[in-house]
Amino acid sequence: MIALEHVMKRYDGVPAVDDVSLTIPTGEVFGIVGQSGAGKSTLARIVNLLERPDSGSVTVDDVELTSLRDTELRAARRRIGMVFQRFNLLSSRSVRGNVELALELGSATRAERRARAQEMLDLVGLGHRADASIHELSGGQQQRVGIARALASRPSVLLSDEATSALDPETTASILDLYRRVNEELGLTVLLITHEMDVVKSTCHSAALLEHGRVVEQGRLVDVIRTPGSRLTSQLFPLGPIPDGVPADATVIDITFAGGTADRPVISRLARDHGVDVSILGAAVERIGGTQAGRTRLEVPGGVAESVIADLRRQGLLVEILRGAAA
Ligand code: ADP
Ligand code: MG
Repeated sequence: MIALEHVMKRYDGVPAVDDVSLTIPTGEVFGIVGQSGAGKSTLARIVNLLERPDSGSVTVDDVELTSLRDTELRAARRRIGMVFQRFNLLSSRSVRGNVELALELGSATRAERRARAQEMLDLVGLGHRADASIHELSGGQQQRVGIARALASRPSVLLSDEATSALDPETTASILDLYRRVNEELGLTVLLITHEMDVVKSTCHSAALLEHGRVVEQGRLVDVIRTPGSRLTSQLFPLGPIPDGVPADATVIDITFAGGTADRPVISRLARDHGVDVSILGAAVERIGGTQAGRTRLEVPGGVAESVIADLRRQGLLVEILRGAAA
């Protein structure tokens, strides 16, 4: 488990991380999302104490890191693997040498390091490239080496800061696949820092939205998408502004559905049971956190009866009226 309590970090008096409290349960894939400059990387560096917070506490696996001495902190850091956007590999070393590097401060013998590096390279699908030099590998392969290196010291937590941001969509998908596998098979807690909402949708169980260093929203994705006015939801499923052509007297509603409600024929029921004539202005349906979820924006000429809205809500749907009113 990772627990941050009232973490504060200022640069030149300006907060980069502003009173952040977060609890990330063991075994979760937890997303930290937010625009550039929101404080995501600072927060990542605070979790392994590469950056010391001005105040607040950082607890990883029941160990409070800010109170540790240097030697204890080094040991605690081995429990936290880190993956970076720019891979941060040494071009002077072979693929295997880069993975072994993560073990050189520990107590493993040379033979043990070599065996462990090979095991990790096999895990990420690069066992056959152990003797290659870094520059012979593609970006996606280099990132796999970065992940193998991060996993070599048997961490319980994997911190990933924009690890897929420099990769093409297909490579990104395969790296995220690997994250899901290490999460499920090795039970690692994964803290996935990203500005890409697709990464969160496809991979995270939970997420926190960071703005100007503050957590403005957090929760399990299946709960977040049932929360009225959720900003995370509107970023996960952007439907954009209401199109110009929609008449001023039309009612526009957003319906968000998740889990058991996702596969129900909501729109045909509106027409059949309530005689309501609807047009679809936008829709986004995807799997998130292992459940089918999505949003639909509907245009209804004139008003929509309160009883219809109530019926939709009884079906477990989140209904938000953007324009017009229940009549
Ligand atoms: P993100 O990763 O979300 O893009 P960062 O954590 O990198 O955000 O940065 C958050 C804020 O802190 C930014 O305003 C950035 O300029 C500032 N910042 C980050 N690191 C430093 C630093 N070492 N020195 C001064 N300011 C910094
Ligand atoms: Mg960053």
